[in-house]
Amino acid sequence: MKKSLVVLFVLLCFSFANAQMGFDAKNALNYIKIQCDFGARVPNTEAHEKCKNFLVSELKKFTPKVKEQKFTYNDLERKQVLNLTNIVASFGEQKTRIMLCAHWDSRPFADKENPPSQKPVTGANDGASGVAALLEIANYISKHPLKNYGIDIIFFDGEDWGEEGRADKYCLGSEYFSKNMLIESPAYGILLDLIADKNPEYKIEGHSSYFAADIVYKVWQKAKKLGYTEFSDERIGMLIDDHLPFLKKGIPVIDIIDLDYPHWHTLKDTPENCSAQGLFAVGETLLALIYE
Ligand SMILES: [Zn+2]
Repeated sequence: MKKSLVVLFVLLCFSFANAQMGFDAKNALNYIKIQCDFGARVPNTEAHEKCKNFLVSELKKFTPKVKEQKFTYNDLERKQVLNLTNIVASFGEQKTRIMLCAHWDSRPFADKENPPSQKPVTGANDGASGVAALLEIANYISKHPLKNYGIDIIFFDGEDWGEEGRADKYCLGSEYFSKNMLIESPAYGILLDLIADKNPEYKIEGHSSYFAADIVYKVWQKAKKLGYTEFSDERIGMLIDDHLPFLKKGIPVIDIIDLDYPHWHTLKDTPENCSAQGLFAVGETLLALIYE
């Protein structure tokens, strides 16, 4: 009797330590494939338009509160006016809110190919992975009532239009959104970028730790408590990414990113080179934060 009680106690402790929220990483991985099947989501292309329509209709399955924020960007050098759209999906009426975001566009050229290629990047990991995780989180929230936090999911357009030496041509969607916020200012935000490498490791990004150290600590502590060793204490430099326009405004948004992806900005950034492992670690960590 005593012995079986001890066994039961040990089993209970084990199951609590490994309590999972139920993030469906397989479905998230499938969301990467669906986006890539449209082709590279380069602004002003048919694939971009089709994928936007898919993202909007998919989000509308999970919440009635979906908005499209349309804007243009005039690229004087490339003589093109880009038609861009940020997509916003809101969940819950709670006053205290968390913003979760990723970019949904693909890079128009593969400048890390050797030699550099003018063909567009499929962007399975660079772009689609973050969107995929957030679509699956939207799906989860639609089935599990929120508690203390309302959630706003934003998919930014035009993140990857930038060129070497032209930092101003990156992050077009987040730059525009930060100046035309369609949502209440969040308590904090989390940006996902390149999260589905086959060997995922999320090091602490410089701008995040400099401007929002408490949020980095909160997220990393949560991940570690849940046993996700993909979150590392190693540091990387300050990156230009979609969190930066918000940090400049004093809104704490951190970047979960794995830059050690060998296929970054190459033609091999395809679904075959992605895995569910990181999607699961990030998805579970985010759900634990959302429902705390
Ligand atoms: Zn990129």
